[in-house]
Amino acid sequence: SFNSCIKVAVRLRPKSTKEEAEKEEPVIVVDGSNIQLLTSIGETHFFTCDQCFSSDSISAVAQNKHQQQREVYEYFAKPLLSQAFQGFNTCLFAYGQTGSGKSYSMMGKIGSKSELADASGIIPRFCQDFFIHVEDLVKNYAETSVSLSIEIQISYFEIYKEQIQDLLCSTGGNLSVREHPKNGPYVVNLTKCLVTSLEEVQRWLAVGNRKRVVASTSQNKRSSRSHVIFTIVLSQRFQEIIDGRPHVVDKHSRINFIDLAGSERLASTSSTGVRREESLAINLSLFTLGKVITALAEKNFAPYRESVLTWLLKESLGGNSKTAMLATVSPRAAHVESTLSTLRYSCLVQVGSLIYL
Ligand code: ADP
Ligand code: MG
Repeated sequence: SFNSCIKVAVRLRPKSTKEEAEKEEPVIVVDGSNIQLLTSIGETHFFTCDQCFSSDSISAVAQNKHQQQREVYEYFAKPLLSQAFQGFNTCLFAYGQTGSGKSYSMMGKIGSKSELADASGIIPRFCQDFFIHVEDLVKNYAETSVSLSIEIQISYFEIYKEQIQDLLCSTGGNLSVREHPKNGPYVVNLTKCLVTSLEEVQRWLAVGNRKRVVASTSQNKRSSRSHVIFTIVLSQRFQEIIDGRPHVVDKHSRINFIDLAGSERLASTSSTGVRREESLAINLSLFTLGKVITALAEKNFAPYRESVLTWLLKESLGGNSKTAMLATVSPRAAHVESTLSTLRYSCLVQVGSLIYL
């Protein structure tokens, strides 16, 4: 890896049955951690990331029954688990054009009750392991003189045109962001749900996902134009009596999963009105995110406040935190320009020399 503060993986989605029937020449070849991309004017571009995931065809995917969902989770998100319990804040982003597999990777299908679905993505898989870890930890501490209590809260919200919508609350309306002098930026009146099991998390995820679907039919595929953030707040309290006096140690950490808005350049189709506002907001936040990550790698001033997304993630991006980015790409020749821009963004963010194209 080039830089220990950010890990980047690339996932090439399989061709759909329809795309497979078109029998296009491949424009992207992935091999280990290397990627080759062939553009329409015959240029070849080379990229390197930490790890690539690809599957050739949807029929291969059908055969191995979403096996790769587990591989992506284990490589990419599972290491964040122990880091979270050590007290690190973490951010995991999915970046890519609409239809490239961001939501499939992050959320996938959610399961019912305490069972994961085969196609479960990173979030439900992480939550399952999270609660197993909590149980083990509590059991281990029960055998010591230290008493441990753990509290887990989740929130789920969307940033659309620089405005925040709560996905876990039935009433609508935009929420505002404020900055607490000690704890940093937060969303005022955001719903925070106390949870104790995977089953409860899956129920809340279903509530939030349903709300997204409703919003998107009323606003024309809005889901591809908003950032969706799922956050777990973990509070651990360790208490011990030493020489008759209580000693308390608190550890707090936040784990953020961010399904970013589609990175395709919506502005290129000379959009106007609402579409144009959406494009400007998306470009602003993706550009600022790249600038912030680059600035942190170079230990420069990071312009967190230039977008709502980066402002809210301030405490989870700098200093005591871990970041990972999953760049999702399409196998189609028609998408090669978008793929090039996704790879430039994610691979250059990693080496700390972002050029946003
Ligand atoms: P995005 O969120 O980036 O707009 P989606 O996650 O909705 O894209 O994916 C678009 C479609 O492709 C969905 O039907 C999804 O199930 C499918 N898909 C994406 N990635 C994969 C994958 N790795 N394996 C199988 N199907 C996938
Ligand atoms: Mg999506």
